[in-house]
Amino acid sequence: MKLDLKNRAKDYKRPFLIAGPCSVESEEQMIQMAEGLAEDGRTALLRGGIWKPRTRPDSFEGLGQKALPWLINAGKSTGLPVTTEVANAKHVELALKAGVDVLWIGARTTVNPFTVQEIADAISGTDITVMVKNPVNPDLMLWMGALERFAKAGIDDLIAIHRGFSVYNHPKYRNVPSWEIPIALIEKMPEIPIICDPSHISGKREGLLHVSQKAMDLNFAGLMIETHPTPDSAWSDPMQQVTPEELFAIIDQLVLRTETISEEAEDFIDLMRAKIAAQDDKLFELLSHRMKLAEEVGIYKRENDITILQQEHWRSIIENRLQQSDEFHLTHEFVRSLMDAIHQESIRHQTKVMNPSLK
Ligand code: PEP
Ligand code: MN
Repeated sequence: MKLDLKNRAKDYKRPFLIAGPCSVESEEQMIQMAEGLAEDGRTALLRGGIWKPRTRPDSFEGLGQKALPWLINAGKSTGLPVTTEVANAKHVELALKAGVDVLWIGARTTVNPFTVQEIADAISGTDITVMVKNPVNPDLMLWMGALERFAKAGIDDLIAIHRGFSVYNHPKYRNVPSWEIPIALIEKMPEIPIICDPSHISGKREGLLHVSQKAMDLNFAGLMIETHPTPDSAWSDPMQQVTPEELFAIIDQLVLRTETISEEAEDFIDLMRAKIAAQDDKLFELLSHRMKLAEEVGIYKRENDITILQQEHWRSIIENRLQQSDEFHLTHEFVRSLMDAIHQESIRHQTKVMNPSLK
């Protein structure tokens, strides 16, 4: 089945909502789940993991083939299309035979081009929608590469799912969102709709609203959120799952902003953009002037045999600027990377005048 999200942008209401448990556990669980979701009318696709690629071998790894009919029947009895993760050609064959409507590729599969190709070959010739999660590591090319392998296999209904990137012991996220990576994907592959998976990014219920709102503000097409009739007793990912009621409470709280802007808003934004561009002009002039001063210092150092890098001096400059960051309402991270970039450029200019023959 084709979801055709990119062409139905006008007649579906954002967020395109995918919900259902991390893992299919029983027929009753799936029916209860599907009914709880379908009643409200906002769920577009029912998810359920059958084959679970778990990091440790003693975790629950999914019930496998026997759980497929439970997912299918839950979908049929409520009219919801269904989706599950496939991680090899055999899974594809079984899922397609059972009547799964949409397939998704998990983060641990996207990292492996051999497996992605095997799955793409197995799906080739069908007109099914494929959703590709980002790889566990923050590698945009690997994510794009997987999408390209499916496109080359003739799959023209592709969706990207942003589920965050692995990190060791982060205080806030189970997988850090690194929003710049999905933003870069949107820039490079604008035809691919993107859905956010706040469950695996956050790793806990309390973080779902915040991540979902951010995804909506970045104009993502939809959300995939894990739901369970009794989340605390879920066989996998219990801390991040919510009941359907909790899910809809989150969706109700989302502020949905639009990309299209009124004429009045456009005038205001154009004016502000012009003001910002004028500031950027000044910034560039200042930076250019600053580098000229650095070159003069470089010439002086050359003539007096002084090294370019003066560790102690630079350390004190950074420290002073970091101390000023609050006063200027700039984050420490920004000040740190701005000063590092300026320093590196300054060294390039000084190197140029000091050793003109070295490139
Ligand atoms: C999942 O969606 O249940 C899952 C295993 O996700 P990921 O591949 O993002 O870890
Ligand atoms: Mn999960």
